[in-house]
Amino acid sequence: MTHATRINETAIMFWAGRDPAQTLAELTALGLHSGQLGLSGDLDLTCASQWRDALEAAEFSVFTVFAAYSGESYADIPTVQRTVGFIPAATRAEREGRTMGVSDFAKVIGAPGIATHIGFVPESREDPDYQAVRDMVRRICDHAATHRQTFALETGQEPARTLLAFLNDVDRPNLGINFDPANMILYGTGDPIEALGILGPRVLTVHCKDGDWPEPGESGALGSERPLGEGSVGIGRFLAALRQAGYRGPLSIEREASDPARRMKDIAAAIHLLSGLKNQL
Ligand code: MG
Repeated sequence: MTHATRINETAIMFWAGRDPAQTLAELTALGLHSGQLGLSGDLDLTCASQWRDALEAAEFSVFTVFAAYSGESYADIPTVQRTVGFIPAATRAEREGRTMGVSDFAKVIGAPGIATHIGFVPESREDPDYQAVRDMVRRICDHAATHRQTFALETGQEPARTLLAFLNDVDRPNLGINFDPANMILYGTGDPIEALGILGPRVLTVHCKDGDWPEPGESGALGSERPLGEGSVGIGRFLAALRQAGYRGPLSIEREASDPARRMKDIAAAIHLLSGLKNQL
């Protein structure tokens, strides 16, 4: 791949599913040249070589491939706990195989890392689900290491100290996190800037996403995702905290709005916002 990522380059979290060349043309038209590619659970992974060719032609570099899984739902917190990531025991083996497949996909396209939401990690190390998930993360790290890849856990669903203790317990040098400040707010997990102080050295990549806290008293409800700069993260203070933590990696805009036109409009506004904020740092 010919594109070399610059320090704190503005990048994008985007999803495979449509024609790769067309997807990349929309992103390069916005001035983007790098990003994180998400693969839904039902995507046929044999499209890897098609993606490799399209990325080369567009001079676009993917630095993380994100795995999502069939049967996941983010409707509310209890549904996330029941369906997302490695926690549901019934789908664990299938999702482990899928994640290894995503790592193999990442190798084909030359991406140096993979990532996923592993779901809500239980706090107790004695919990059998905790132990099963820890061992599964170790096996995935070891598979990724054979391709010289990192494995990043998306933040947000557990407090920073629980996540840090889990990372230390897994004890693999290629394991880190993809820090998403909005998720910490959406799940009501804790102040993202404080969390960054705790998790800073383990941050491999970040999402620039914004959101508001859940409504008080609405048990189990998630907060609402918002266009970048319009939610409760405080993107200026987030960038300053990343700088302070020594983070020099790319800044991936993530916008999950379901209407595609709205999403592209918000991404264009986010690119503009980040370029202004970066100039002030
Ligand atoms: Mg995210």
